[in-house]
Amino acid sequence: MNFIKSMKVSGMKRIQCPHCKKHLAGEGHLKRHVRTIHKLKTSNDQ
Ligand SMILES: [Zn+2]
Repeated sequence: MNFIKSMKVSGMKRIQCPHCKKHLAGEGHLKRHVRTIHKLKTSNDQ
């Protein structure tokens, strides 16, 4: 029986910035990065 092992690192979901090569530790970090570094608003930002 094949069991697919999850490659998820505990609590650390790394996301790459769509505007540069930088990887952020989560969606919140990415949003803040995009706002502060690229001076852009994220679409689903409240
Ligand atoms: Zn970036």
